[in-house]
Amino acid sequence: MPADQVDTCELSWNGQTVFCAGFRDGLPVFGWRRAPAGLATRRQLRALDLSEAGLDPVALLVYRHRRPFRHEEVAELFLVADARPVQPMTPGRWRQHDAMMRARRTCRTCRQVVDHCVRGPKKQCSTCYDVEGIAA
Ligand SMILES: [Zn+2]
Repeated sequence: MPADQVDTCELSWNGQTVFCAGFRDGLPVFGWRRAPAGLATRRQLRALDLSEAGLDPVALLVYRHRRPFRHEEVAELFLVADARPVQPMTPGRWRQHDAMMRARRTCRTCRQVVDHCVRGPKKQCSTCYDVEGIAA
């Protein structure tokens, strides 16, 4: 057993018993790269477009920088499965999104809203685009 695995703890979310590096503030402490799967730091959640908002940390990640920065870093670990998307879609955001998509589906030549995104420098539907393509 590596030196930093001095204790065992039961994971409240899945009942697994794992080695940990002790406890701090009632939370199990894990060393770098020793945290159980399914946990992530704030930064790791952000990378997944998830937010820790409303969540309590379930464990702590404690690690030391390599020399010459030997001070200890502590990061809170959150359950990835409980994290929510960073920006939940609100009715306002959906309206904004719909308007944007409608604009992208509106042909600038025939002014019709089509079922696909308009294309080309003239933002045309495929019918207008093809007609001009043949005419050209
Ligand atoms: Zn058109």
